[in-house]
Amino acid sequence: MRVSERPLISAAAVAARVEALGCEMAGDYAGKRPLLLAVLRGASLFVADLARALPIELELDFIQARSYAGTRSTGSVALSRAEDLEVTGRHVIVVEDIVDTGRTAAALLERLHGLSPASLALCALLDKPSRRVVEVHPNYTGFSIDDHFVVGYGLDCDGLHRNLPAIHVMEA
Ligand code: 5GP
Repeated sequence: MRVSERPLISAAAVAARVEALGCEMAGDYAGKRPLLLAVLRGASLFVADLARALPIELELDFIQARSYAGTRSTGSVALSRAEDLEVTGRHVIVVEDIVDTGRTAAALLERLHGLSPASLALCALLDKPSRRVVEVHPNYTGFSIDDHFVVGYGLDCDGLHRNLPAIHVMEA
């Protein structure tokens, strides 16, 4: 497998879309002091730019979600430091790198919902709707893409390529 030479989504297009998402979210959350809850590690670069594109008061926290292998039907997801999260009564925006089958996001949203936030939204940089197994509809989406395995801008392949400034496809 190798990284496509030409990006699927250029760094400039990513930057412009993140700015636009920031404007839209700032309008929706003005005065609400939302909690951006970014899912490690893939959303780390995205949330760093998104937070700076939001000209409103907000808080930023991180969570790690690991899908256990062999739990295909339920999408059982282990959350690190879920017990430390102070989301009750907060306007929570989960920031994900990519929604693929939807299992991770669905499980995460269900767990967070159980902690009684004031509101709960999902913002995904990338969405692969054709791969969906569990129904999940991000409230904010950067880009909808076809069924490719992508890397860059925080997304990895075996730990590599997170630092690429654009989104690339892994090619055979
Ligand atoms: P889901 O639970 O929606 O199937 O998958 C969620 C996780 O799978 C994402 O947060 C991401 O870590 C990983 N994933 C899914 N598709 C891709 C992809 O195209 N590239 C990379 N790097 N990770 C992906």
